[in-house]
Amino acid sequence: MKTETTAEVQGVSRRTFLAVAAGSAVVAGARAAGAAEASAAAAFTLPALPYAPDALAPVISAQTIALHYGKHHQGYVNTLNKLVAGTPFVGKPLEEVVRSSEGQAGQTAIFNNAAQIWNHTFYWRSLSPQGGGQPAENLLTAVKQAFGSFEACTAALTDAALTQFGSGWVWLVADKGRLQVMKTSNAETPLTKGLTPLLTIDVWEHAYYVDWQNRRADYVKAVLERRINWAFVAENLQKA
Ligand code: MN
Repeated sequence: MKTETTAEVQGVSRRTFLAVAAGSAVVAGARAAGAAEASAAAAFTLPALPYAPDALAPVISAQTIALHYGKHHQGYVNTLNKLVAGTPFVGKPLEEVVRSSEGQAGQTAIFNNAAQIWNHTFYWRSLSPQGGGQPAENLLTAVKQAFGSFEACTAALTDAALTQFGSGWVWLVADKGRLQVMKTSNAETPLTKGLTPLLTIDVWEHAYYVDWQNRRADYVKAVLERRINWAFVAENLQKA
């Protein structure tokens, strides 16, 4: 495991924040006229990327980040804000919106957009420019208990990623402390299934087509070997 100094993390955060803040100002200006009825303080917002937009290249390029984070993720935020206007969902924590809208008649679009915001934020945090390698000891022990070896764990993640038919996500989750791999379709998320998400990889085509075209297997391999933020995974397991 590699470690990052606090100074490095803060430096990246500040740069990312400034880049996002500049983009948000443009968006806010464009939307101001039509958004007067919505409270700005209560609106759902796009969380800052935890690294610079080009920091995951060449596994995930700046162009993919511009589209995937800047257009898709931002799009789910914009759509959710329109969908919840005038409903009791305004001002509620995102996780609560995801949990209480799932499977409810007439709330499919709210669930899809809210869950996609949550899943994408979790995906960005599951990755790191200094990622890959192996987990630190505590997490590695839990991985070995569940899968037999670290290699068996990444093989299970790979198999789930490659057999997810159509759009979806592959996850490492904790089920009452025991690790397991699962996959979900479209916006579905372990958050609503009583499981603790530990890491996710987006396997929607928009996640990899610019960089890897149809080669989902190469994208998944590169992410697992070079970009998984195992420190974030360990942190999530500790809180499980
Ligand atoms: Mn995506």
